[in-house]
Amino acid sequence: MTHLLLGQTLTLPSDPFQTGPESARHERRGAVAIAQGKITAVGPADDIRAAHPGAPVTDYGTGLIVPGFIDAHVHYPQTAIIASWGKRLIDWLNTYTFPEESRFADPAYASDVAGRYMDLALAHGTTTMCSYATIHPTSVDAFFAAAQSRGLRALAGKTCMDRNAPDTLRDTAQSAYDDSKSLLTKWQNQDRLSYVITPRFSPTSTPDQLSALGALWAEHPDCLMQTHLSEQVDEIAWVQELFPTARDYLDTYEAHGLLGTGGVYGHAIHLTDREIARLAEVDAAMVHCPTSNTFIGSGLFNMAHAQTHRVGLATDTGGGSNFSMLRTMAAAYEVAQLRGQALHPAHLMWLATGGSARALRLEDKIGTLAPGYEADLVVLDLASTPAIAQATTRAEDIWQALFPTIMMGDDRAVTATYINGHLHMAA
Ligand SMILES: [Zn+2]
Repeated sequence: MTHLLLGQTLTLPSDPFQTGPESARHERRGAVAIAQGKITAVGPADDIRAAHPGAPVTDYGTGLIVPGFIDAHVHYPQTAIIASWGKRLIDWLNTYTFPEESRFADPAYASDVAGRYMDLALAHGTTTMCSYATIHPTSVDAFFAAAQSRGLRALAGKTCMDRNAPDTLRDTAQSAYDDSKSLLTKWQNQDRLSYVITPRFSPTSTPDQLSALGALWAEHPDCLMQTHLSEQVDEIAWVQELFPTARDYLDTYEAHGLLGTGGVYGHAIHLTDREIARLAEVDAAMVHCPTSNTFIGSGLFNMAHAQTHRVGLATDTGGGSNFSMLRTMAAAYEVAQLRGQALHPAHLMWLATGGSARALRLEDKIGTLAPGYEADLVVLDLASTPAIAQATTRAEDIWQALFPTIMMGDDRAVTATYINGHLHMAA
């Protein structure tokens, strides 16, 4: 049965970093037709209604219907430690992250946090997330069970670490391979779920562990592989000490079979020319996490990469300081401004939808309002607070109307979230 959503519609059928903001499609009075979880038509409301006489209608008035947000890099186990004070990367891990992640040995705790994280993400309009779990296989089960029960398209993997982490958070090269393989077999392509091979980063994996995970990836090239790359200068120096023969940070992955198509590299701030070129050659993705990069003091991502690479956008919860992809778009705008790059609202919306979908190789399934795409949608209120409402009263086009919500909006701007065509009811 077909269901129609009415409102303003906005989508980016192609990458505005390539084709410019003009490629966006906006209908002031638009409609999206949904059947069996898929979008079947998008266009002017009058045309869509005429084509579907008698179809039930939900009218959101001036609400803006956009693709659900896609958060390409999160650590759901860090939900409870978001906004913890005063540390840079390595101290952050040792002080806040590792003690919290140790608690995920308890499956009940893991499923409690997984559910809480999903509900927070959905309340902020995020309909797909790609998460790191902890070293505990049950933390992966908890995440996927929570996503599955909500009907989400979601991705995650067991975080592998066999050195430079507390005893309670260390696996081995062999157990990382075995556990990852059995989780992959269990969850890959179950409903809307995808397994991601996940070494945390080179400092916490021995060369043997990186090789074991590289071998697993070679056996399952349809899986993504996610890790961290060149987030902080101190971290890069540490990597150089740990891998004295490596040409650069990326080479520590490349030498162990962990560079390739389907590689998703978080942060990617302080890159050498060789690293930038190699990532482009293999068509790997970079994920920009701007609230994390400023909160932990990491640096300013170069958005010029979006012209040559797959670039996604992410909160990096809980190194990132917010669950909101709107707030994350605002931070991306601010970081780009500090580098002299003014991102158009179309660029920001793209990064949070189609750009992240491309980074996760899901661009044929989500991130666009077009027939055949999965019906993961968000309806935004462009006047969700008095401060935003007064700023939009003189807007002359959709971009002027949307930009205050990007810069100042949060979960109050999310009127409704649809997952696979179904209206999500808050828990
Ligand atoms: Zn991260």
